[in-house]
Amino acid sequence: MSDKQQRVFAFGKDAQGNNVTEGDKSMNYILGGKGANLAEMANIGLPVPPGFTISCQTCVEYSSNNNTFPEGCVEEIEKYRKDLEERLGKKLGDPKDPLLVSVRSGAPFSMPGMMDTVLNLGMNDISVEGLTEQTGNARFAWDSYRRFVQMFSNVVMGIDGDMFENAINAKKIEKGVQLDTELDADDLKDLVATFKGIFSDAVNAEDYPELVVDGKVAFPQDPTTQLMLAIQAVFGSWMNERAIIYRKQNKIPDDLGTAVNVQTMVFGNKGETSATGVAFTRDAATGKKVFYGDFLVNAQGEDVVAGIRNTSHIAELKETPGVEKAGQELEDIFELLEDHYRDMMDIEFTIEQGKLYMLQTRVGKRTAAAALRIAIEMVDEGMIDKKTAVLRVAPEQLDQLLHPQIAKGAVKNVVAKGLNASPGAAVGEAVFSAADAVAAAEAGRKTVLVRWETTPDDLAGMIAAEGILTSHGGKTSHAAVIARGMGAPCVCGVEALKIDAEAKQAAIAGTDIVIKEGDVISIDGLTGEVMLGAVELVEPEMSGDLGTLLEWADEYRVLGVRANADNPEDAKLSRDMGAQGIGLCRTEHMFLGDRKQIVADMILSEKGGEEYKAALDKLYDLQQGDYYGMLKAMDGLPVIIRLLDPPLHEFLPAPRDLAIKAAVMEAKGEDASEVNALLAAADNMAEMNPMLGLRGCRLGITMPGLSAMQARAIATACAQLLKEGLDPKPEIMIPLVSMETELKYVRKEVENAIKEVEERDGVDLSFIEIGTMIELPRAAVTADEIAKNADFFSFGTNDLTQTTFGFSRDDVEGKFFNDYENLGIMKVNPFATVDDGVVKLVDIAAKGGRSTNPDICLGVCGEHGGDPDSIAKFHKVGLNYVSCSPYRVPVARLAAAHAALKA
Ligand code: PEP
Ligand code: MG
Repeated sequence: MSDKQQRVFAFGKDAQGNNVTEGDKSMNYILGGKGANLAEMANIGLPVPPGFTISCQTCVEYSSNNNTFPEGCVEEIEKYRKDLEERLGKKLGDPKDPLLVSVRSGAPFSMPGMMDTVLNLGMNDISVEGLTEQTGNARFAWDSYRRFVQMFSNVVMGIDGDMFENAINAKKIEKGVQLDTELDADDLKDLVATFKGIFSDAVNAEDYPELVVDGKVAFPQDPTTQLMLAIQAVFGSWMNERAIIYRKQNKIPDDLGTAVNVQTMVFGNKGETSATGVAFTRDAATGKKVFYGDFLVNAQGEDVVAGIRNTSHIAELKETPGVEKAGQELEDIFELLEDHYRDMMDIEFTIEQGKLYMLQTRVGKRTAAAALRIAIEMVDEGMIDKKTAVLRVAPEQLDQLLHPQIAKGAVKNVVAKGLNASPGAAVGEAVFSAADAVAAAEAGRKTVLVRWETTPDDLAGMIAAEGILTSHGGKTSHAAVIARGMGAPCVCGVEALKIDAEAKQAAIAGTDIVIKEGDVISIDGLTGEVMLGAVELVEPEMSGDLGTLLEWADEYRVLGVRANADNPEDAKLSRDMGAQGIGLCRTEHMFLGDRKQIVADMILSEKGGEEYKAALDKLYDLQQGDYYGMLKAMDGLPVIIRLLDPPLHEFLPAPRDLAIKAAVMEAKGEDASEVNALLAAADNMAEMNPMLGLRGCRLGITMPGLSAMQARAIATACAQLLKEGLDPKPEIMIPLVSMETELKYVRKEVENAIKEVEERDGVDLSFIEIGTMIELPRAAVTADEIAKNADFFSFGTNDLTQTTFGFSRDDVEGKFFNDYENLGIMKVNPFATVDDGVVKLVDIAAKGGRSTNPDICLGVCGEHGGDPDSIAKFHKVGLNYVSCSPYRVPVARLAAAHAALKA
């Protein structure tokens, strides 16, 4: 080797029974999960068939070097192969007692079924005779050869597997039998010949000159050729399409590579004293402490997983004659493995003629409910401490417990896919307007609201519907944010969905499917799938275990967790979920329905005139009640109330709708002057980039009395609650500030309004804090100045991401994000997980803010506040809290604990 890097590592025993294993479980990134755990099992004395592992780094070099082995690697593999043959006293391809090996992939992270496996390698025309002689079982030998040619052709050479299955079926028909097991040795011998013919026809001689014999491609007889081709295939499978997609979905880096494990074959199909199976040390679905899994007598590994035969429950193994001793030994090993790894383990084993072999172990995958139960019970059993238990449950997994989901194994007819915007699944009749959703709900019918994108106007319909489906908008679109807030399932940005709201139908592009109003559809907000018909759902499993684990998490986390909520019901829900306050109450959500007209009257009247003032007064009366309800629901906890933020045109009817209405009226000869006046006003308000326009504090500054009205209403509600003996803690937040002068201006108005109420009601309200959002780059970099006038900062990372990148948060996901992700330009959606550039701005602002105002409280209220990866970054920056939608609160509590424990 030129660089002295060890690429191949032995595991198992030598001929004298000494353990010659070179790795252990800590070498996951070198040996892959499977290789590292095989080494570990060998080290603790478990019966592991001997073999060797080729490192993940070799795969990376192989792939990046145009699929060629690094220098010296082939020789090193050859050395370890010979060593294996010596250890076993057997040779690959031997005419008397041949060695057979399996060649399996094994990456640092489990990627079940994504990459390649070849079994029975070493079979050829000579060794099949040797195996017959050695086992005295010609049928077994020929079946092993048949399986090898089939698997090698399909997996290594990429030949269509159906061709082999068809040949087997033809043979069964010819023999008049039903099952593979009814074919005898001669039949299998015939099949091997047929398979070899398929191989010769399918493989191109130019691609594989080493396989050409007498001018024709032949199935490779040389075990070394077989082995090297199989290793290359496993390395190559790291970059196959399904593996790439799986890694992307599971956030596994592409540059880890896979190891290759070459291991002595053991056979579970050598008669009634042989068996093979897979098992978990505890129930992976419920977490119950029982052995869980299946086995088959007289079968090879893939038969169990393939579901060809009905398997038996693992608990019966020790009562099954012929394998009972191995069955008991296996149960002892389960306990030993749990004790060693201190976790629930997943195991593959084979019993060959009564002798047990361990083929694999790894930490078992489990449902969220099982994860909670196992973590808590292992603490009770004294196996792990509380910190470890908290780290054992993935925050994202909790989402599974908080929303209805599609039942396991439910039949699904998926017709389109979009963004998985808000978890949970919903089934209902398709409706194409909020009004139809409301009407259906009133009539007791369940619906899925299908919209191009939702607007604040759709809120009633969104509440009435079981779920929301949109063809446009990303994960921070209106539909997504509101749905998550409500805990409603939402799939958004389904580009294939061509909606004709007028005709109340939606076509699925590229198909002739048309979803009409009333057609039952299902959506899965966890996967982004859209399905025709009703899919079976199951209710969330709320259990005491969740509460226990979250209490433990709270002991370790440093970050506070608040919720984004804007009505008393959501506030109460947030409290129930463990929120320590409200981090964002978006007051614009209080101006919907009938109230929208009042806002419209204000906007359309002369600024500061009588009509304008009358509208403000009306809003003031309503707002007092709103704030009273919110503050009462959150009594004793902080509630950040944000002054009005969105562009005002959102409160006016859409110009297009008005133009149509006016045209229709005029065509009927009706007087449309009022509508036309409204249209002119709406046109006048329209902006090219409304998200960069008249919104945020710019509204409070240019609309006289608006901020004061809201502040007065908050102060009045607070004063009233104080008089009732309660403990309201409102904090007033000024949005979209970019300059210190803006904040000063609005702050003054707010302070004056509070003072007015103090004097009027004779109460002390000086404790009401006034702060701002940091959601523009200029605010972030001048935070030291801004902090002089702010009691707190809340990072609006939705807008901060939008303005840092210059990406429109409402459009970008449907436009070019997919291309960016596919091209590797962008690895994660920055609206889902906060970008490091944005975090830098947050860090600058946090440091700047604290430099001039050491006591300033710093939080995040953008959607990132509920994302575990983002939470870890905010923990690092040293923020005081994160705020997220009510249903994300448990996730954030656990993620904050993980961040603290891992730091
Ligand atoms: C933000 O910008 O991150 C934020 C919380 O405000 P909004 O989403 O309401 O603009
Ligand atoms: Mg914002």
